[in-house]
Amino acid sequence: MPLTNVQARDLDAVIHPYTPLHKIREIGPLVLDHGKGVYVYDTQGKEYIEGMSGLWCAGLGFGNEELVEAATEQLRRLPYYHLFGGKGMEPAIELAEKLKEIAPCEIDKVLYSSSGSEANDTQIKLIWYYNNAMGRPEKKKIISRVKAYHGVTVMTASLTGLPNNHRDFDLPVANVRHTDCPQYYRFSQPGESEEEFVQRLAGNLRTLIETEGPETIAAMIAEPIMGAGGVVIPPESYFPTIQPILDEHDILLIDDEVICGFGRTGNWFGATTMGMKPATVSVAKQMTAAYAPLSAVMLPKFMVEALEAQSAKIGVFGHGFTYGGHPLGCAIGVKTIEIYQRMDIVGRVRSLAPQFEKRMMALADHPLVGNVRCKGLVGGIELVADKATKRSFEAAQGVGAKVARLGEGHGLILRAIGDTLAVCPPMIISEAELDELFDRTIKALDDGE
Ligand code: PLP
Repeated sequence: MPLTNVQARDLDAVIHPYTPLHKIREIGPLVLDHGKGVYVYDTQGKEYIEGMSGLWCAGLGFGNEELVEAATEQLRRLPYYHLFGGKGMEPAIELAEKLKEIAPCEIDKVLYSSSGSEANDTQIKLIWYYNNAMGRPEKKKIISRVKAYHGVTVMTASLTGLPNNHRDFDLPVANVRHTDCPQYYRFSQPGESEEEFVQRLAGNLRTLIETEGPETIAAMIAEPIMGAGGVVIPPESYFPTIQPILDEHDILLIDDEVICGFGRTGNWFGATTMGMKPATVSVAKQMTAAYAPLSAVMLPKFMVEALEAQSAKIGVFGHGFTYGGHPLGCAIGVKTIEIYQRMDIVGRVRSLAPQFEKRMMALADHPLVGNVRCKGLVGGIELVADKATKRSFEAAQGVGAKVARLGEGHGLILRAIGDTLAVCPPMIISEAELDELFDRTIKALDDGE
């Protein structure tokens, strides 16, 4: 197909993240123009079901007038202010109060930033600062996991456990250690039960901690369900089994709720769904339903007290972003949570989950599909070259990306992560729209055979 004018302009001026840059002309670009409900429309007027909520974030879909109004009102009243040097504003206060109310663990205060990466980066800085305040400057290493995704800053890309986030970026930095990915389908040994798999991973984690020395390890960071690593849902016993090992060695658990937060897994937070007992929590994405960028770290009292005590010793607390707690994001965040509460987002996800699971699991019979996994309204469809041996396609074949593109032909946007197709529809999706999403998915898979 010849390029449209807007596509040509895009190619001449824009770099696309997470894209094979050498193939961008083959791929598109697909230039979107507007959205309504669970649908987005390109510049030619073609309709797509947004099966990924953008990047796991537009949980209330597109064109929500209440959010537009909340944003407009805030822009008129006070389009910008900051929290530096003791300044404050009502939307930042109200959102922090709401977050404390719904948090998955005891939270004392909230520190704002703009993106998931910034929130996780802040977590690490605060934990280092905290350990310095506690007089243990050697307790600084952070454990993450293979296939984790925590962002793209120097530190958070280091925590991310995906090769292309490290390769040629000179990462990971020191002080980061990766332990196993809890994906039973891919990483279990022949004949190993799920429980044996969990015990082996827990044993490896203990060995890592003991080899490094627990006095050198500050924290472990984990997503309840790994998203960008290919939708990895750990076995139910995984977090309950590793949590005591962390507690025993005084290692804090940082809960990265950037994808799982705000109802996605059938609870307010993925930590509840997966049995995590975190010390601190990072949130972003669905906190504002993606109508504005905003993220936050939610901190327990003992950390807040240590930060305050350290400030008393050394003066100014030297951290903060110009746009951290931006009033536009906070006003939208307050309205978003109000809408989630009014529509009972947790109840809604739980009531749609059985249909989602049924349609997902039915895909397992498709010749291209090796494994299907889902929880709440998030899932992954892993494509394989050989179902019996689980053999993957050669990466160069780009089968996942090809099927995702075929989906676009059928009016469906999914996200290919290697050969796993991620599905994460807006949580406002209706039952009929959900069926339509899966009907289009089947067409894309059939075309991809
Ligand atoms: N953490 C998780 C679990 C994520 O999925 C992401 C992004 O997808 C991030 C952190 C980074 O967020 P951002 O892209 O807003 O920096």
